[in-house]
Amino acid sequence: MDALDAKYPFFAAAREAVADAAVSLPELVAADAPAVERGRERVERALLDGTVESESGAFPEESAHDVQAELLSYPVARILVSLLDSEPAIEKYAAAEAATAIDRIREDLAADDELRSVSTPTVGLDDVLAEFDLDDAVRPESPRGGPAAGAGDVGTGAPGVEAPGRAPAHYWIDVGPYLRLTSPSWGESWRLVNRALADGAVRVSRDELLDAIEAAVEDRVREGLPFELAAGEGIAAELEAGVADLKRLLSERSYAGPVDVVAPELFPPCMTNLIEKAERDADLAPPESFALMAFLVGIGMSPDEVVAFCADTSLDAEGIRYQTEYLADDRGTQYPPPTCETLANYGICHNEEDHMQVAADPLAYYEKRVADAEEITDWRDREGGEDGGSDRGDREGNGVKRDAGEIADADGTE
Ligand code: SF4
Repeated sequence: MDALDAKYPFFAAAREAVADAAVSLPELVAADAPAVERGRERVERALLDGTVESESGAFPEESAHDVQAELLSYPVARILVSLLDSEPAIEKYAAAEAATAIDRIREDLAADDELRSVSTPTVGLDDVLAEFDLDDAVRPESPRGGPAAGAGDVGTGAPGVEAPGRAPAHYWIDVGPYLRLTSPSWGESWRLVNRALADGAVRVSRDELLDAIEAAVEDRVREGLPFELAAGEGIAAELEAGVADLKRLLSERSYAGPVDVVAPELFPPCMTNLIEKAERDADLAPPESFALMAFLVGIGMSPDEVVAFCADTSLDAEGIRYQTEYLADDRGTQYPPPTCETLANYGICHNEEDHMQVAADPLAYYEKRVADAEEITDWRDREGGEDGGSDRGDREGNGVKRDAGEIADADGTE
């Protein structure tokens, strides 16, 4: 087991390292080893913050003991998330593992490009592509503009192999893997009809290639989940307290319920910026569209309402439906938008006027603004607003305007 296994625990080598170590997970759990608490933190951070990075921010570098705990926390987390018995929890967990992994991969590649040393072992792009059987399917762009055909064609080495300091800006990926790993729901520009195609390959920027790799990581993590574990027996019984803890945390987060009023003028700046970006017809990166969808669902909008709200943006209806349907579950805002801290790490939050002081996440910030507002006309009741007026009628009678205090009372957000 080494630090690279702990950094990328879903890589085949890491799985082999766990198998070779012949560690018994039931014994580990019974002994309440550090990997168990870290596994619980992994799931908690995934579901509440969209990342599996440790809250301490420290990645184990030297101590073999810590590296082992970090690596083993991954199989423990997979068992815990299986025991939560919730499909959206599994989706969100896999997305958070992938988001964390791609951040680490970006950091590794940057270190490689700049020839700087970092404290943990790093991977190169060729390692990552080989890990997902993409080494033959992805080629750097040749100086002539098409997919590189062979060694020497790219001027920096063989196809798929990067020379330090000269990372190509574009790559060509075979159509099959492109269609498997990307989704038109990411924006119009991802549709095949809007892409340059040559020799059965699709042109992507380096950033877009990393988005596709993130999807490959997510698929890898998602594979095999949930495990079938008999409740109340063996390892499931040992982990009962941890699972109960996670369920309690999730239900606390969903206790207040959605604020259920749509007042775009009160949205936090991060969400307004994302909406304005999409209205300029610019594509939103996956973390951006996830944050926006989680926010809109979190304030109580139905998938139909979100589709109508985003009608004049680069976001397409099919993608919106896919994302919102898995974010919205019967228990309300169980899967809230990532915290302000996480959004700041993604460059989505600029913490205007230091308002991060006011709330820890965009939903909480919006709820405060709604509670402070004197009178609000819900977007769904405005002329030209969403056509779901009949739904609104079911909830609120025919009142066009709602008193903000009444909203806060009804939702228990005061
Ligand atoms: S501080 Fe929070 S609510 Fe404000 S812009 Fe940043 S992420 Fe959004």
